Amino acid sequence: MAKDPVCNMEVDPGTAPARADHNGTTYYFCSEACRQEFEKDPEKYTATAQEAAPRRRRCCRRKS
Ligand SMILES: [Zn+2]
Repeated sequence: MAKDPVCNMEVDPGTAPARADHNGTTYYFCSEACRQEFEKDPEKYTATAQEAAPRRRRCCRRKS
């Protein structure tokens, strides 16, 4: 299964109603509306998946 990067829904690449290529990777979407949302700002969705977790570093200024 592939994941719709816009709404995070799982989509079957064989039956996905929409898809888009970005930087050599094919993304699948649950609907044309999600694909259009992705096309508006692909970096927003492709970067989120890979960098969201590592960027949430714990800050040194946490209360103690
Ligand atoms: Zn979707």
